[in-house]
Amino acid sequence: MSSLKSFFVDLHIHLGATTSGKPVKITASKSLTLENVLNEAADVKGLDLIGIIDCHVPEVLEQIDDLIRVGHLIENKRGGLFYKEKIGFILGSEIEIYDIRSKGPIHVLVYFPYVSTMKEFSCWFSKRVKNSSLSSQRIYEEGTTLQKKVKELGGLFIPAHVFTPFKSLFGKGVEKSLSEVFIPEMIDAIELGLSSDTSMADQVKELQGYTYLTNSDAHSLGKIAREYQKMKMEEPCFVELLKAIKFENGREIECNYGLDPRLGKYHETTCERCCHFIENVEMCPNCGHRTFIKGVATRIKELSIGHVADVSHQRRRPPYIHQIPLQFIPTLGPKTLEKLRKYFNTDMSIIHNVSQEQLEKVVSAKIVEYILKARTGKLSVSTGGGGKYGKVK
Ligand SMILES: [Zn+2]
Ligand SMILES: [Zn+2]
Ligand SMILES: [Zn+2]
Repeated sequence: MSSLKSFFVDLHIHLGATTSGKPVKITASKSLTLENVLNEAADVKGLDLIGIIDCHVPEVLEQIDDLIRVGHLIENKRGGLFYKEKIGFILGSEIEIYDIRSKGPIHVLVYFPYVSTMKEFSCWFSKRVKNSSLSSQRIYEEGTTLQKKVKELGGLFIPAHVFTPFKSLFGKGVEKSLSEVFIPEMIDAIELGLSSDTSMADQVKELQGYTYLTNSDAHSLGKIAREYQKMKMEEPCFVELLKAIKFENGREIECNYGLDPRLGKYHETTCERCCHFIENVEMCPNCGHRTFIKGVATRIKELSIGHVADVSHQRRRPPYIHQIPLQFIPTLGPKTLEKLRKYFNTDMSIIHNVSQEQLEKVVSAKIVEYILKARTGKLSVSTGGGGKYGKVK
């Protein structure tokens, strides 16, 4: 047990382009190349393990082979890779399912232990999508077929940002239960997404037995680690990740760090036309429009109707800290952030480790106060909705 340590983990990071400049995730920043992501996550953010979820792309797989050849990436026998002796890296892919039995689209995350298994998956996958060199491609296959393939290859299957109004399990995928499209036993964990947290998700009875993950879904370098978790493991590899998710042999998720759900873009229901907040009305009181973007809070209320919270089979829940990324902190501009990073190396050490006295030597008392409040979730925020983020007050 003494060999267990704490690791900071973010499992949902996109690539914007291959090294040769070909687009991967069209909406993501072109500076998100494989090596830029690994370097930023390790050197600037201070993460210990990341999941890059565009690894099915053939050119990305070729680049991984190249990095292994020159010794910059080393494959771990227990799954996963290690980059330049500074950060662990799990091979993943985000996939869009449009299950014929339901509505969809639903985004899911899959992860594989080895380059060889990701290659095998990529090959299977490329026959079922239009363009396997792009991110988040729609697969023309039932959700359960994908689940069985992932399990056959020893992978992890995790529905992504499950409550968001577009492209998610409960947003567009199913009416009442995940069993409408998936085999419940073949789901390894649930990714909460930016607009919900543990206590909100626990109102949905069928989710109570699953581990919750909090990831950034970063589409730019700056957004890496806007949500993450602290995991107790022996080393940052695939097998240990699996054990932490299952809370096995002392491995565990020690803490989820996420935005206050009110900061998320889709927390409350809003008018589709004017973004006015909508509550229990048929028509927008502001503009008269009748179609709304259903917020995550509203959707969770719907799903929890008739459910009595039953904690007997609930998974042990680590604390969920409502954390505000350094970039969101008022008056903490890019110059100040640069200065903080110069003194204290990484965002993780600024957020978690540096003492008040050390901070006071570098930045103003006001900013120190904000950072300390952000650590413990005590900064107050305004509510987001309809695609607009909430704001720190
Ligand atoms: Zn997604
Ligand atoms: Zn994503
Ligand atoms: Zn309106």
